[in-house]
Amino acid sequence: MRTVKKAKRMQSLAAGIKRDGRTIAFVPTMGALHEGHLSLVRRARKLGDIVAVSIYVNRTQFGPGEDLKKYPRTLERDKRLLRLLDVDYLFLPDDSEMYPSGYLTYVETEGITSVLEGKSRPTHFRGVTTVVAKLLNIVQPDVAVFGQKDAQQAIVISRMVADLNIPVKVIVAPTVREKTGLALSSRNRYFSPEQIRRASCIYHGLKRGRELINSGVTDSKKVVSEILRIIDDAEGTTIDYISINDANTLDHVRKITREVLISAAVELDGVRLIDNIKAKPGRTGC
Ligand code: AMP
Repeated sequence: MRTVKKAKRMQSLAAGIKRDGRTIAFVPTMGALHEGHLSLVRRARKLGDIVAVSIYVNRTQFGPGEDLKKYPRTLERDKRLLRLLDVDYLFLPDDSEMYPSGYLTYVETEGITSVLEGKSRPTHFRGVTTVVAKLLNIVQPDVAVFGQKDAQQAIVISRMVADLNIPVKVIVAPTVREKTGLALSSRNRYFSPEQIRRASCIYHGLKRGRELINSGVTDSKKVVSEILRIIDDAEGTTIDYISINDANTLDHVRKITREVLISAAVELDGVRLIDNIKAKPGRTGC
């Protein structure tokens, strides 16, 4: 695995790969890698001749008071894991490479970024779309793989790629979970096994919501209040939102008649966690 720190260098390597007629599959991450990230890398391995992964903790997607400074950083371990998966290139820029002095340009996707995570974290998606647009320009992948764990992010990025005519195929891979059901997240590192068990109430709540929808409940308020009850019952939880939205447009849904995304943002002992599950009336979602 070759580590590349400079954008120009990465771009010229990517151009060489393409000249040779080979394809690039790319997985952008913020590091502190876990099985969820690694599942995306394995998927990328099947999708392209060359696999590139980036590790960059992007400060523009963190709001004031969020955990940028204490975001987990485990670079040496991450490198070992990526080598084991036969990753070809690790793009590892620093802040001055991504946002050099005089930097003035941001990418914004409207509408779908003002609900759910965007409502709670108003500057978050502007940071995400900006950094992902930059990374796609630098790595020039044919395919980029994102996780369903951050469902809204995947929808926003797909919209940006379509709107800006970026020549990349966006693939969304399933959420990888702990045995208890808790979605894997770099932030789970902050937790003890006992906290992981408590945090699993989020998944149990979402699953119960899906069951209700599958069994014919169409009133989203009813479904939300049942999920709320389950998550609220667990010790140390503070709910930011539980929401049922159209799975494609993210429009808020009152009466459930088509595929929906049930999403939740919950603080457990001060650590903010998000998760989601899809559900269709009358059948099991993924
Ligand atoms: P992050 O490092 O948190 O920015 O995540 C990098 C990529 O990994 C994003 O596309 C995430 O959606 C994805 N990801 C994070 N957690 C999981 C998970 N538990 N299962 C699948 N993908 C995930």
